[in-house]
Amino acid sequence: MDHSIQFVEATSLKQKPSSEELGFGRFFSDYMFEMDYSAEAGWHDPRIVPYHPLTLEPSSMVFHYGQAIFEGLKAYKTKDGHIQLFRPTKNITRLNKSCERLCIPKVDEELMLKAFKELISIEKDWVPNGDGTSLYLRPFIIATEPYLGVRPAREYKLLIILSPVGAYYGDQLAPVKIYVEEHYVRAVLGGVGHVKTAGNYAASLKAQEDASAKGYAQILWLDAKENKYVEEVGSMNIFFKINGEVVTPQLNGSILDGVTRDSVIDLLKHWNVPVRETRISIKEVFEAHARGELEEVFGSGTAAVISPVGELNWNGDIITVGDQKIGPLSQRLYDAITGIQTGKVADPFDWTLDVTSVKVY
Ligand SMILES: *Cc1c(COP(=O)(O)O)cnc(C)c1O
Repeated sequence: MDHSIQFVEATSLKQKPSSEELGFGRFFSDYMFEMDYSAEAGWHDPRIVPYHPLTLEPSSMVFHYGQAIFEGLKAYKTKDGHIQLFRPTKNITRLNKSCERLCIPKVDEELMLKAFKELISIEKDWVPNGDGTSLYLRPFIIATEPYLGVRPAREYKLLIILSPVGAYYGDQLAPVKIYVEEHYVRAVLGGVGHVKTAGNYAASLKAQEDASAKGYAQILWLDAKENKYVEEVGSMNIFFKINGEVVTPQLNGSILDGVTRDSVIDLLKHWNVPVRETRISIKEVFEAHARGELEEVFGSGTAAVISPVGELNWNGDIITVGDQKIGPLSQRLYDAITGIQTGKVADPFDWTLDVTSVKVY
């Protein structure tokens, strides 16, 4: 496949927001990447074009049957002005895993990486440099074929949009309160819980709304079959430090294979901290707390990196973890991962990819 990406220059550029007003996913940069698929031509016309609204047929299959997948990763600015991505090939591989499960034609992984690099290179001034800020990349694919029959679509669009995002937390990583969900489930074995598809999020909103109304920031999902085993928290993977050992749910087919999760496990191994991927029941977590052995609980994901958990509510049974403060291991992981991402500390795993000046148009 020819990997050249066409570039269409914008006639005017937007005013960039200040670091303070960023938040998450509210501002979008001047350009986006776009590529189309048809059964006849395959993936074709890769291009970087001014950010613009899409025109789609109301009969586009994505609106009816939900063939939509996405990814999320960040570009960071280093102290010396370089821009780097964190483990981007993991996201590209996962995108193709999602494609496979949703019957969407896979994309060329080299072309995707080239698209990331060129888009960021063009948009380098959109990478904010405030503490904790970054440029979020949101690649996604939607089924665009105008047809109401139920089968995999024969036309798709792949887009990558960029959003400068603010620090998830202020100076302190504030522990969140988590509601253990017993009524709704997120994903079943054999379903789509292990891939990043839009429907998983649509299905989770009701439980999230109910939990918010009770004053909880996130949901802790249990397995759909027995309502016993811990799966994930909101859009993050989850870790428990129990009596010196870190445990996290194993990738069982309904849990998302998080890049941050994988990085946490690698770091813990590197530090010789015992870590185990296993099946863990919510009862075991509460029992560990009762024995005084539940030392830390934290979520992991691209958005927050490490999110300490300060309280768990399971059916009205409430436990608090770590005195509403972030635990030392959670802090160490946060500092190590964000340090590598922003080039403040050495990167012994070769996780970062410098994309500072890939191509000048
Ligand atoms: C994206 C996501 C995660 C976190 O994955 P990262 O690659 O670490 O960002 C965890 N759970 C779900 C359901 C997700 O969609």
